[in-house]
Amino acid sequence: MRPNLLYPLFTDLQYLKGIGPALSKRFEKLCGHKVWDLLSLKPTSFIDRRICPPIMTAPEGEIASFEVEIEQHKPPPKKGLPYRVLCRNESGFLNLVFFHAYPDSLLKSLPVGEKRIVSGVVENFGEQKQISHPDIIAKPEDREKVLRLEPQYPLSAGITQKKIRATISQSLATLPDLPEWQDSPQLGFKDALLELHSPENEDDIEGSLQRLAYDELLAGQLAQGLVYQQTTKKSGAKIQPRQENLIEKLITALPFKLTSGQDKAIDEIFTDMQSGNRMFRLLQGDVGCGKTAVALVAMVAAVANKKQAVLMMPTTLLATQQLNWIKSVTQNLDIRTELLTGNEKGAKRADILKNLKSGEIDILVGTHALFQDWVEFADLGLIVIDEQHRFGVLQRLKLSQKNEQAHILLMTATPIPRTLTIAFFGEMDISRITEKPAERLPIETLVMPFNQSTTSPNPSYKEGKYKDFSNPSYEEGDTRKTSPLIGGIEGGNDKIISALRRAISNGEKIFWICPLVSESEKTDLAAAEERYKFFSKIFGNKVGLVHGKMKEQQKNEVLQKFINGEHQLLIATTVIEVGIDVRDATIMFIEHAERFGLSQLHQLRGRVGRGDKKSTCILLYAGKLGQASEERLKVMKKYNDGFKIAEEDLKIRGAGEIMGTRQSGFKEFKFAEMPEQQEDLFQAREEARKILQSDPKLLSARGKNLRLLLSLFEYDETMEYISAG
Ligand code: ADP
Ligand code: MG
Repeated sequence: MRPNLLYPLFTDLQYLKGIGPALSKRFEKLCGHKVWDLLSLKPTSFIDRRICPPIMTAPEGEIASFEVEIEQHKPPPKKGLPYRVLCRNESGFLNLVFFHAYPDSLLKSLPVGEKRIVSGVVENFGEQKQISHPDIIAKPEDREKVLRLEPQYPLSAGITQKKIRATISQSLATLPDLPEWQDSPQLGFKDALLELHSPENEDDIEGSLQRLAYDELLAGQLAQGLVYQQTTKKSGAKIQPRQENLIEKLITALPFKLTSGQDKAIDEIFTDMQSGNRMFRLLQGDVGCGKTAVALVAMVAAVANKKQAVLMMPTTLLATQQLNWIKSVTQNLDIRTELLTGNEKGAKRADILKNLKSGEIDILVGTHALFQDWVEFADLGLIVIDEQHRFGVLQRLKLSQKNEQAHILLMTATPIPRTLTIAFFGEMDISRITEKPAERLPIETLVMPFNQSTTSPNPSYKEGKYKDFSNPSYEEGDTRKTSPLIGGIEGGNDKIISALRRAISNGEKIFWICPLVSESEKTDLAAAEERYKFFSKIFGNKVGLVHGKMKEQQKNEVLQKFINGEHQLLIATTVIEVGIDVRDATIMFIEHAERFGLSQLHQLRGRVGRGDKKSTCILLYAGKLGQASEERLKVMKKYNDGFKIAEEDLKIRGAGEIMGTRQSGFKEFKFAEMPEQQEDLFQAREEARKILQSDPKLLSARGKNLRLLLSLFEYDETMEYISAG
């Protein structure tokens, strides 16, 4: 329940004066639909309207303001020429220039003989100074109101700065007085918002942003603290792992020796699971570091204690793959593992559900289908969620409520920089695997241009017929040369074809990731099919195709052929981004790599280099590279380490964008800047801890005000949590 006090802030913008349905849609796009969203819009810069130079020395091209007397109106002598209004003050003459003017309204706003304040960009006109279409025309008594720092907001199609400013000042007028929730604030919340949008001077802006950002960080950390309290103070299923020789058997059965990072994570998990409290742990580790094995050891520990375990995967394809792997390594352990996805139907499904409820099934692997209420366990001891960023925060909460005793292990390969981990996952304990299995060689990454048209279906295609980009004579007018900054290899499409030919005859397995053509899956699919046709003409049935629109079974069949070597060149859309494990795939081409984000490129690249063979990833780009894309490709070329790449990503994009994808369920920061404000984040974390230690249910006087803060930043659901618990 949102407190009444906050209603003005949560009012829909469309109820404000001067905002119709069309405009409110545009506002929605710009910032969101509530008054609070609009007030959270940070100005991008400020225009200083206080600069009032003498007219004759006012610098050309800069914004200046003048108090002038209106001397004379000069309507255009003939069509096509502007309307001019001559003004003066003691420092000289100033012309105001208007194209397509309405003389009546100009005569009204600039009456001859009266004084006005005008402001705008100064232009030279021969010996004279002029302003075309002044931004401001105001009466002298409004001087204070208009000659100030004027905030500029992010641009959005169809909303003028003037409209944004007017709507903001209308909103500011409705701001309620809220009781103070900070301990010793330098500046109140309301004043901070007022100063952000109408600052007296530059220092105001910094102070107000500081206050608002800290409010935001504290709210986030309190919310996490509340969730943490609620989940961990529950008692958890008692699991005594080390006493069971089933674990020893499993570890011996694994086809590899666990890395020390895996060992450490397992220890941490075991400590949690036997503590008597419920585990709520995030296992973070780069693609290929072996998180599945860790999860399996934990699951088998639950089974050894006569409990069940469940492993949740984001896609059926991955679930199937994990199931097969688990079955193969546990085949001599007398553990029953089953699969439950949307595909198991009818009698099969009923059978699984029955055996689950009776406790016959030890480990269940599945997808979102597992969230459903009708999936009941006999005695669930451990819940593992893989690639957890695919599941929203609410699903996370819902799942943790499914069985109050069951331990929870979330796994993510999104290598989030440390600060963000705290900001977004602070409510969990965290294990990090920072190393890869020793046998792994770093993946060599190349960046090169790629001429797309060559791969259009073209029956007359013959190798060698195409122009060779490495031939200097072909450089003329070609924008697809390797950028010198990247320093990749020179080469053209037929080089790629012959490289593919060589690789295939050497028995290598190759991924070819198709371009991200647009936001629409349909067009991406078309591109993949086109590539598939093209390569099939050259390499016949060595080529396979997988994409998201295929039926699970079809997908699995193709993948199986790739695994057993029937297919050696797998054309894929980004469905293979997550988790697919083909150990001996050694080459990956990513077409239109410049269109992918860093974390996606890294995830994709992680599909090769999983075995002990040297692997290569070739990032192909088309057209001229923008600065940001070039930056990204350079980072990919330079680094293999996901955490490092994530840090770089944070530098390039900022926290909001990294965490801001809608499906991830993360909240973006409105005010705080990461990593710049990490000190504030740590401080907020400390403070939130102290607060909850002394006032775990936020019932004190300050606690009640802090509830307002939580509600303000829309963490209401975490509060329902405490009032229930
Ligand atoms: P991720 O952390 O990305 O989920 P996986 O669990 O899929 O990684 O493991 C990637 C590959 O590495 C798998 O083929 C797995 O069998 C293998 N693997 C896991 N642990 C080790 C290890 N300690 N030594 C060698 N290979 C390992
Ligand atoms: Mg995995």
